[in-house]
This record gives sequence, C-alpha cells and structure tokens, in this order.
Amino acid sequence: MPPGQQPISFDNSYARLPERFFARQPPAAAPRPRLVRLNAALAQELGIDPGAMEADAWAELFAGNALPEGAEPLAMAYAGHQFGNLVPQLGDGRALLLGEVVDIHGHRRDIQLKGSGRTPFSRMGDGRAALGPVLREYLVSEAMHALGIPTTRALAAVTTGEPVFREERLPGAVLARVAGSHIRVGTFQFFAIRRDEEALSLLVAHTITRHDPDLAGTPDAALALLRRVMERQARLVAAWMGVGFIHGVMNTDNFALSGETIDYGPCAFMDAYHPGRVFSSIDHQGRYAYGNQPRIANWNLARLAETLLPLIDTDPDRALERANEAIAAFPSLYEQAHMAVMRAKLGLMTEEPGDAALAEALLEAMARNEADFTLTFAGLSGAISPDGAEAARARFVNPREFDTWAEGWRARLAREGGDEAARRATMARANPQVIPRNHKVEEALATAVSQEDFGPFERLLSVLERPFDSPEDPSFTQPPAASERVFRTFCGT
Ligand code: AMP
Ligand code: MG
Repeated sequence: MPPGQQPISFDNSYARLPERFFARQPPAAAPRPRLVRLNAALAQELGIDPGAMEADAWAELFAGNALPEGAEPLAMAYAGHQFGNLVPQLGDGRALLLGEVVDIHGHRRDIQLKGSGRTPFSRMGDGRAALGPVLREYLVSEAMHALGIPTTRALAAVTTGEPVFREERLPGAVLARVAGSHIRVGTFQFFAIRRDEEALSLLVAHTITRHDPDLAGTPDAALALLRRVMERQARLVAAWMGVGFIHGVMNTDNFALSGETIDYGPCAFMDAYHPGRVFSSIDHQGRYAYGNQPRIANWNLARLAETLLPLIDTDPDRALERANEAIAAFPSLYEQAHMAVMRAKLGLMTEEPGDAALAEALLEAMARNEADFTLTFAGLSGAISPDGAEAARARFVNPREFDTWAEGWRARLAREGGDEAARRATMARANPQVIPRNHKVEEALATAVSQEDFGPFERLLSVLERPFDSPEDPSFTQPPAASERVFRTFCGT
C-alpha cells in the first residue's frame, strides 16, 4: 500500500445522524488476533485491495486493534419484538458499525465488526462472539449470496486469541460483516416507543437515501418506503422458502429495511421437507417454523407500519386506515413472489390458475414422504421425461406418489410447450444442488473449534460458492445419515 493511502475508504453517513441514534464506542482490543479468512472478492467489490496489507495487519484491523483511518465506530440503537414481546431497548450489544464505504457499483455498504466487545447496549452480555457462530454466519451468509438471495456478507473472520465462556470455554472470534445497511424494523420501533417523531422523519429520509433514492422528495415518503420494504421482504421470504431456509429468529430487530437476510443465529436449511420444521433451540412454540415465515414477515411489517403512523397522516384515524390498506397488500405481494419462485423451480414459463395447487401438491407429497427438499427439486429437470425420474422419485418413501404428481406436472408442461433446453436452464438456476446442510456445517465448525483446522470450513465454503454445480465430492449433496442428523441449532450468543 503506498504511504498515506488507507486500506478502506470510509464515507460515513449514519455517524452524521443525531447522537441519540447510537453510542460511539471503540472496539475492545484482542490479545492475539489471527486472520482466518479475508473474502478477497468481496473486498475488491468494496474497493479494498486485499493485497494491500499482510494477513497480520488485516487481523489487527478486523479484530478492532488497529482502527483504520476514517472509521467512526458506533453501536446502533434499536428496540425490537423478540418472540412477540416488545423490548424497548436492545441495540448493538456485541457489534460496532465501523463505517460505510461506497462500493465499485456505487452502492453504500456498512462494515460492521461483530464480537468486538461490550457497548452501552450489552446488558448482561460480554460483547463477544465465539468462533463457531462466526464461521457459521460466514458459511451460511456466503452460501445465501451464491444462491442469489439478498443477504449481509462476510468480509473477514478473525480469531482473537481470547477465550469466551458460554456453556464451555471457546475460542473468541470477530466477524466483519457487510450490509446494505443495518437499519431494522427495531430501529424505527426504538424511536416510535420514545415518541420521537423528529428522529423517525430523519430515519425515513436516511433509509430512503440509502435504499430507495428515487423516492426522495415524494409527498407520501413514509408510506412509499413501507411499500418498498414490503416488496423487498416478500421477495426475500419467497426466496428463503424456495431453498428450504429457516431463519429461526425473525424478531423485528433482525428484520432489515434493505430486504437482506440478517442475523444468522440458529438458522438452518431443512433436509427432509416439512412445513412445520423448526431447528432453533429457543423457538419452543415454533413461532418461526418454516411455514410460518411469510405470516411473520407480514406481522413484522405491520409493526413497521405502526411506527410510521405519525408520519403517514396527522389525523390518527386516517393514518391507521392508510397504513392498514398498505399492509393488506402483503399476502398478494408474497403470493406473487412465491409463485415466481415456484414456477421457476417447476420449469413453468407461463402462468395457469392451477399452478399454485400443482406446487402445493408436490410439497404435500414431499412432506408425507419425507422427501429431501433440495434433491427432489434438483431431480425434477430429469423427471421431465418419465425415464429420467429416478433421482426425484428415489427421494420418496413411496415413489408412486411422485409418479402420480409428475403425470399432472408433465401434462401441464405439455400444454405449455416451449423450448426444453430453456426450461432445463431455468430449472438449473432455480434448483441448487448444494445447500449448507446442517451436518456439514457442524462438522466444519467442530473441526475448526476443536483442532484449529480450517480445512473442512474452506472446502465446504468453496462448494457452497457454486451451489448450482454438482461438486466432485458427492458427500456435500447428500442428506445426513441417521447418525449425522442435526435436530437443534443454537444461536451461541
Ligand atoms: P440476536 O439474538 O443476535 O439478534 O441479539 C439480540 C440482542 O442481544 C442484540 O441487542 C444483541 O446485541 C444482544 N446480544 C447478543 N449476544 C450478545 C453478547 N454476547 N453480548 C452482548 N450483547 C449481546
Ligand atoms: Mg440481532
């Protein structure tokens, strides 16, 4: 790096908002930082030259020991509904926004350190992160990105050389996370609870500048922003549903205005399909089960709408009426997004009224037959002709149920006609071969944590970066053996 040049060109805007939006806080120092991984491709996208410094210098930077010039570390204030209960003050308790950069495409992105020490919002927490959850977020967020699903990204992972104590002593780590922004429904709730309308207006304007600049200056800005967030979240949750992803903690503080997936705690991809599937150890009632996600998104958006009421109309009744009217559109927005995903998965290029029922019938048969979600859909393009159906039908306890469904599906494809090569290409892009299967993720984490061996993590990551290709090692595509099955996931906080 030439003298005088900085490794990261910060251009901060959140730090210019009033001081009540955050708490300024330097990161805690780590005794022996070590770079586990720097995401070179993402760094380049952010205008950061990964070769500008040695690994040790990057480790110092991302551990928070050497604050780069231009960084203005702060913990963002937010509130949130956690499992339905409103907590008026949460905030970044173990994360710091270092600052923002404008990437090579002209998009403003946050760089955040997660696990960088206590903040005024830490409550009883230690402000730290353990290596396992850091690697888990790295793997799953990068897998989501490769699947084409909006998500925060992993820029780097470092170990701190300091233990953290959960149920046991674990290696400490920091994740450098990149997001379109870290503005959540909970950020709006924080100010709504305090009846701080001035802050709410500023937050609406800031969010619009970042995510919907074309809305700047529109008269009904708050309502227009709400509609955009609804559209983004409808597409996001539909995309999750299309890959069998279960977020696990869809609290309003983990629900981003950017429409990106945020906060990879106890999230999981399912193997065998079931709409009621839950993995999170803390989700006792299944509030965030796979099949509930669209409804929860709707609920979270209604909480966002509530915070905006004073900005929607000065007459409270009129404000409520207009907000309700806007929110009422979510189920159909979601259904449209969901059907776009399902049509691509089924290779349908046109629309027919029976398509939703056709998709639902397959899912119901899959649930009855404990069919693997990913492999059933990956096998569908072969099943366009009956003699290529084995890969899909073999996923069913009773393959006849697949055959019966496939007859109706083939009749639908025949009515549509069209170019078979184009259909197969669409299906190949909509139906991944590889997802971050829980047992593979756990195996990679366990080896890294217990033996400081990052080989399995690196190998899994490289396969997950190309989810639509068949990997050389077939073990990455296979469902877990009975002894490998993971039933519970933990947020590890
Ligand atoms: P999460 O479940 O990760 O969305 O976190 C919910 C809230 O708990 C946020 O305010 C976090 O900042 C806070 N939190 C989680 N883990 C810790 C920790 N180890 N130390 C301090 N705060 C934490
Ligand atoms: Mg969170």
